[in-house]
Amino acid sequence: MTLQRRHFLQTALASTFALPRITNAIVPKRIAFGGIGIECSTYSRIRAKDEDFTILRGAPLVQSERFAFLKSYPYQFLPTVVATAVPGGPVAGDTYRRIKSEFLKRIEDLLPLDGLYLPMHGAMFVDGMENAEGDWYSSVRKLVGAKCLLSASYDLHGNISRRVIDNLDMLSAFRTAPHIDREETLRRACDMLIHCLDNAIQPSLIWAPIPVLMPGERSSTEWDPGKRLWAQLPALNAQPGVLDVSLLVGYVWADEPRSTASAVLTGTVPTTLRKTALSLAQQYWDARKDFQFGTKTGSVGQCVRWAIAAQTQPAILADSGDNPTGGGTGDRAEVLEELLRQQARNVVFAGIADRPATEACYRAGVGAMLPISIGATLDPLGGKPVKASAKVVFLLKVDQPLEHQAVVEVEGIKVVVTARRRPFHDIADFTSLNLQPKNFKIIVVKSGYLSPELKPLANPSLMALSDGAINQDLEHLPKNRLRKPSYPFVPDLKFEPYAVPSARSPR
Ligand SMILES: [Zn+2]
Repeated sequence: MTLQRRHFLQTALASTFALPRITNAIVPKRIAFGGIGIECSTYSRIRAKDEDFTILRGAPLVQSERFAFLKSYPYQFLPTVVATAVPGGPVAGDTYRRIKSEFLKRIEDLLPLDGLYLPMHGAMFVDGMENAEGDWYSSVRKLVGAKCLLSASYDLHGNISRRVIDNLDMLSAFRTAPHIDREETLRRACDMLIHCLDNAIQPSLIWAPIPVLMPGERSSTEWDPGKRLWAQLPALNAQPGVLDVSLLVGYVWADEPRSTASAVLTGTVPTTLRKTALSLAQQYWDARKDFQFGTKTGSVGQCVRWAIAAQTQPAILADSGDNPTGGGTGDRAEVLEELLRQQARNVVFAGIADRPATEACYRAGVGAMLPISIGATLDPLGGKPVKASAKVVFLLKVDQPLEHQAVVEVEGIKVVVTARRRPFHDIADFTSLNLQPKNFKIIVVKSGYLSPELKPLANPSLMALSDGAINQDLEHLPKNRLRKPSYPFVPDLKFEPYAVPSARSPR
């Protein structure tokens, strides 16, 4: 027995006694974890490259807050690599290959494995490659062999495919949008992995594709029909023989054949899984025409006009087509241009990704006036910049130039420019820049539905149906070629639910 292995056994047994979550654990299992998570709009002209990914490996991965829950299991989860990025355009081929080969190399070093937990998103698109998660799973499956159990956790907006299902044994997806059940979902994926390993269960995994594609902004779980569709999942999950029930919206801005909504079930009683999957698919299909935006929407011009005219404040205006957390580029300036045109005052706009403008502000210093060009630096074909005279009012003090954020004032509008693409969804994102959101008449964010922190503040909440890589005007999306026929792209589509078992499910 190697020292490393002996240490692993000691750690595993020690935590078994300390936290007897699974009481029948006798033989420690070898379980690794690792994966890649990004949501990629194929309508985006930018590419996710090495610098766009946050990559955790080794001690920082073990100690990360996101995976702290893994310490509550009786077995040690062996770290490999976890790569995540803000949603955006497709992943550059060489970046994907570099991350994937590191993951596979680290898996190889840990063999043999009994189980593998994959924290994923599910809507990755790699330049020149469809079905990227399918590629990821089939590559790791070849390495770990047929006996190793693979359990994946997914975003609600992940896309499933035959290749994905055929290589996995279990899957669990978020049940809330906005996603406020992150840890519960990751835990469900790991709970059932441990349960199956401890009890020598080869579970069944069943997938029912639903040819409906909705943007997240119409399928939130905070209002119907999303609310009632997802509310039934815990009860369905409690049925005998069911380990997990997941209902996924899918990702609409990926023009690839696998893009659809789906019901995915894991468990031990195939008849129950199949019946439940078909029922969920039918209910989702029946509700397809009821999915609506949960807030007042309009053109950019209308939303700015409504925000200026509002008798209450702050009006929060979401620039939905360029929302970086949905795959938008985050560098477009049309809303800023419209605010200036309509002479809006007491506005904070957070933020626009523009590295040259941000660095110019840092060179100029707080208090300096400078001519500035804001926007359209990442995707010059997407929009045009706003050129103005600006005063630098705040510079965030951080070590990494990539994390630079500057606040400038342009004709009564405070604009945040950032060196890299990022959302402004939390109050702390504003206060760290010396901005108090509630003091402004108008707050502009690049967002779809508002985050749990911003939503209660909005008075009123307005969503601009703006142009961008995640334009909400689905029926008029360009380059809609590869997707299978689905609603609303084919309005009169006929559909009869069907369920597909994983090739790994017991026969
Ligand atoms: Zn999502």
